[in-house]
Amino acid sequence: MNTDLKYTGMALDRGDPLRRDATALEQRWCAAETRIVTLCQGKLLVKQHAQAAAHASANVSQTGGALLLRRADASELIDAVIERASHRVFLGQQATHSYFAVEVSAADGQVLCDALAATFIDLRRVGPWLSAEMAALLGYAKGLLFWRQQYQFCPRCGQALHASQGGHVLSCAQVDCSCEIYPRTDPAVIMLVERTGSDGVNRCLLGRNANWVEGSFSTLAGFVEPGESLEEAVRREVQEETGVTVGEVGYVASQPWPFPSALMVGFRATALDSNITLDPHEVAEAAWFSREEVAGFGAWGDENSRHNLPRKDSIARFLIDHWLYQACSGGD
Ligand SMILES: [Zn+2]
Repeated sequence: MNTDLKYTGMALDRGDPLRRDATALEQRWCAAETRIVTLCQGKLLVKQHAQAAAHASANVSQTGGALLLRRADASELIDAVIERASHRVFLGQQATHSYFAVEVSAADGQVLCDALAATFIDLRRVGPWLSAEMAALLGYAKGLLFWRQQYQFCPRCGQALHASQGGHVLSCAQVDCSCEIYPRTDPAVIMLVERTGSDGVNRCLLGRNANWVEGSFSTLAGFVEPGESLEEAVRREVQEETGVTVGEVGYVASQPWPFPSALMVGFRATALDSNITLDPHEVAEAAWFSREEVAGFGAWGDENSRHNLPRKDSIARFLIDHWLYQACSGGD
């Protein structure tokens, strides 16, 4: 299946063997064609607007609104910012180009913004408009750097952690501890629950999270807990949030969701009953909707619509579209 999901399809070779060669990595870091994803306080460097970016084109390569700094074109000022950045990570390579990501300080972030007519922005704000490859690259960089910032001290003994393997392994400085930390992803299940009623109409179960604005409806979702399979997590979450019992559970697709560090694992599930009992702490409202009703939903953020679809770049939207436009897969 061509999922066409945002934040998937990263085009780089992640270069695992290269991560283990510190000398070669240092050479790549200094190479003229190396490209650098730059973050500041978790936000990504993007062009302020098209005209301003055009003025800065001598210094940067531009793709879909995102600015990747290029060593070859960087001025002395920008080079100095890059060199003193914290948490440098090697992302991978494509053809002869190597890609790194760095986190710069707030002060250095301002230096870049002034020099490049750029700004730092949350990936969620630009994600839907980025090319698939760029969105995946930036999501990868954001996720990796978030992890680096979360783990600055050893969780076992509290000593400082040192990065190796291109920033993909963190090791405790305390010799008799030797704790090693690897990048982590938190698995979450997200599921389109469906049921064919006694009237022969197939409907899906959508809800509005207690923290969302009126009109925002989506598939149910939740984090996987220790000691349960993905399928068990689907059944538990649906039961807890809506009181609906789920039978068959089938995998559809997955999506990295670097907000900040989840892997969304998408399912289509068949409900065994339709009575809804809400957990008001989690879900403000939930209901069964036919395809005809969902097809009439407004776009995400539409203030004039009673029911709106999820964001275009989300797997929730993908699961709903998958259900809307493909043959009914089950029911009773
Ligand atoms: Zn330690």
